[in-house]
Amino acid sequence: MAVNNTKIICPDCQAEIVRPLEMEVGEILECSECGCEVEILSMDPLKYRQLIEEK
Ligand SMILES: [Zn+2]
Repeated sequence: MAVNNTKIICPDCQAEIVRPLEMEVGEILECSECGCEVEILSMDPLKYRQLIEEK
């Protein structure tokens, strides 16, 4: 199974988040649908988590 095709799905609204061509651990991606932020935890296998904003 090709890891390269692994998609990042927004944990909040389930929309697919477009991956940048080059991505590294610690990178913060923003969902274009709901604006929530996702932090890349690991590249292989791909792991990520939603960043929760504390108010
Ligand atoms: Zn979203």
